[in-house]
Amino acid sequence: MSNRLELGRPAAAARIQGGPSAPELTGVVWFYPDPLGVVVVAQIRGLPHRDAPCAAGIFALHIHEGSACADQDFSETGGHYNPQDCPHPAHAGDLPPLFACGDRAFLAVLTDRFRVPDVIGRTVVIHSGPDDFHTQPAGNSGQKIACGVIRAL
Ligand SMILES: [Zn+2]
Repeated sequence: MSNRLELGRPAAAARIQGGPSAPELTGVVWFYPDPLGVVVVAQIRGLPHRDAPCAAGIFALHIHEGSACADQDFSETGGHYNPQDCPHPAHAGDLPPLFACGDRAFLAVLTDRFRVPDVIGRTVVIHSGPDDFHTQPAGNSGQKIACGVIRAL
């Protein structure tokens, strides 16, 4: 038996665009159906620069319940996708954070917290800071700096 995931074709994707605080930020988050759940793959560039020494360059990543990225501060995205009414970080939409490599980040994670159809029309949001995986309701992750609507492919 192989431990290798067979990704196949993505069933959905969110095209990510930064807001006023991160205008260079672009990327795609792909959603691959898997027998165990969903493989989420994020490829991002244009993350804010880390000027200070020891700046962490960690950016929280979540699926939010809202369906629009239209407003400048992405407030229409609402809270984390949480159909089971769980505390953070047990929300279905909670994901590992992005670790910046220069202005880029690549992330792949397998999750069984949702299926692809559950998140179509919801939003992926990148935050200005790391997720502390403790503070309610959103891990003290800072402002919403980028957003993309999840669309079926
Ligand atoms: Zn959460």
